[in-house]
Amino acid sequence: MSTQHILLDLDDTLIHCNRHFTWTREKFLNRMMELFKDYPLDRKLVDATQQQIDVAGVEQKGLGKNRFPESLVQTYRLMCAKYGKQPSKQEEKELFELGHSVYDFAVELYPHALSTLEKLIERGHELYLYTGGDRQIQTQKVINAGLEAIFPEERRFIFEHKNTLMLKKIMQKHRFDPNRTWMVGNSARNDIRPALELGLHAIHIPDAYGWEYDRVELDIPAKGHFHVLKSIKEVPDVIEQSIREGRLREPVRNIWIDADGCPRGVIRITREYAEKLNIPCWTVSNFHHELAGDTHIVVDDASQSADLAILNRCQAGDLVITQDIGLAAMVLGKQCRALGICGQEYRPEEIALLLELREQSAKFRRAGGRTKGPRKRTSADDAAFAAGLKRILEI
Ligand SMILES: [Mg+2]
Repeated sequence: MSTQHILLDLDDTLIHCNRHFTWTREKFLNRMMELFKDYPLDRKLVDATQQQIDVAGVEQKGLGKNRFPESLVQTYRLMCAKYGKQPSKQEEKELFELGHSVYDFAVELYPHALSTLEKLIERGHELYLYTGGDRQIQTQKVINAGLEAIFPEERRFIFEHKNTLMLKKIMQKHRFDPNRTWMVGNSARNDIRPALELGLHAIHIPDAYGWEYDRVELDIPAKGHFHVLKSIKEVPDVIEQSIREGRLREPVRNIWIDADGCPRGVIRITREYAEKLNIPCWTVSNFHHELAGDTHIVVDDASQSADLAILNRCQAGDLVITQDIGLAAMVLGKQCRALGICGQEYRPEEIALLLELREQSAKFRRAGGRTKGPRKRTSADDAAFAAGLKRILEI
């Protein structure tokens, strides 16, 4: 099983936002030049002052809806003080409203955003929205963008502050495993840095209009996968590639050992690791074996009994240890993983070929041909098995 939990930022990851602020700031600067036409107002100074106030406001007030309009009014007041102009209530009101008009732009999805989300769902991943801002405004954006079905209310996390502590709370509350959780966003500060600090996988998609506040050094060593992409449409394949490289699967839930004819070393090594990691480990064999204990299941000595006992009991996410390719093929069909006694993992894409080879050998023997019996097991085989087991258990 390789379902990933994917947290997606909204503004400038899925929908346009920063450019609305850029356009509104342009209008503000133009209006300021008009209001101060009798004064030697420095446009660049106004711009820099507003940005500074805006960024400082995020620290104090979070991403609330009045922060930006208020930053325009504060900049106006500062400029009045600097240039000796009498502040006017009417002009302050006008600038505040201009600031608020940033929320009036029609919601527009980024190219490929919707098809990417649909592709991720198709591939079995769980999507969550993690966005900063005013609850009502952000919720309305989700609805207007047509993303309500993809992110129903219980999958939306909307907060005025978006930082490492908040992300940690979400991870704990929803019991997300950092090993299978991704943060996808445009903001180095709000999305990526917290994710890296918590050891999550992160995908940074910087946006063209980049907000000053979003810029921050990402000088934290990534524990998981970390990618910087140009477009959101690359996300599904990047995640798929990472799953293929491993370390993104669910931890093994139970281990089943097909103990008929299983070397003692294999049983001993598996029990050792299972105990260490607290994973239930079951042995299944017929009554001719000397295995015992609470986790041993005895079956009759009909040829397929142990196989059927395992097949009936194992569940998705379990690991089955067997030297029987037929059993391996069946448990792979149940979304289990299967490991051979020399440490080779049986993979879904190879199992059909292995079954075919086995069938050919059987035909050859039935026709009177002789095939070599298994060679004597050595300590190198045990070591290879231990290495294969450790790879699957990720230790
Ligand atoms: Mg964003």
